[in-house]
Amino acid sequence: MQKAFLRKNEEKTIIFDGAMGTMLMNGGLGSIKTPILLNIEKPAFVMDIHKHYFAAGADVVITNTFGGNPLKLAAEGLDKQLEVVNRKGVNIAKKACPDGKFVAGDIGPCGKMLKPLGDISLEEMQEAFYLQANVLIEAGVDLLIIETMYSLEEALAAVNGARKGGDILLLASMTFTKTKYGFFTVMGQRIAQCASALEDAGADMLGANCTLSSGDMIDLTKELRACTKKPILIQPNAGKPITRKGVTKYQQAASDFVRDVIKIKEAGADMIGGCCGTTPEFIQALSAAISDT
Ligand SMILES: [Zn+2]
Repeated sequence: MQKAFLRKNEEKTIIFDGAMGTMLMNGGLGSIKTPILLNIEKPAFVMDIHKHYFAAGADVVITNTFGGNPLKLAAEGLDKQLEVVNRKGVNIAKKACPDGKFVAGDIGPCGKMLKPLGDISLEEMQEAFYLQANVLIEAGVDLLIIETMYSLEEALAAVNGARKGGDILLLASMTFTKTKYGFFTVMGQRIAQCASALEDAGADMLGANCTLSSGDMIDLTKELRACTKKPILIQPNAGKPITRKGVTKYQQAASDFVRDVIKIKEAGADMIGGCCGTTPEFIQALSAAISDT
């Protein structure tokens, strides 16, 4: 399966799905505190979101396991649910997945900071990522995506932990902000520094997701492309969020997103999807535009 994914990657630009959280909120579930519990409580609802993304043209969907790190689960009193919420997340996506398409097991941040800023040791953090990765791999994902990483140290702990979890294709995606001095993580790390450290740790593919809108991601893609020969995934947000009366909305239209995405492809992205605010409508427009170019 991993070989099939890499082969597909050579043939065409691989389309990833759009946001999961945005879809859950649009579905009337409000600001659910722990979306991962929906894998147990409303599996059909989660499966429907995956199906919509596949129908819209996604080659890959990402499991609803963003919050499935044991440290994060423990903070919500869900320590004992590690295996069931992660395994169910994979099962739901696999049931929705047609032949020839793929399921990426999602690994998000652990919600804790390393010592001395926080109270977690590197070994504890790495172990937590290992435990989640292990469940996702055993449940049968085609690849793992470590994403929305604001800290290179944490991303490296995730890559090292996941590597220990089993033999699997590994994609590591960082979140950058744009400043007048260039792109940085919130911890102050540059793209080149992240790319080389993640490659050295054993990431097979690299990426950038969240925070930035599609326009800003064009320059970021050029910079990341210049740093690595590995396949790269770019997942912009649908513009900037605006919150009114407690409801967050993203401002960009699918047509604007797609116009930028063509430039992101030209700048060297091998895989493209959407982050916060994107919906199946965005992925459908993206898929149509990419297959025309
Ligand atoms: Zn996002």
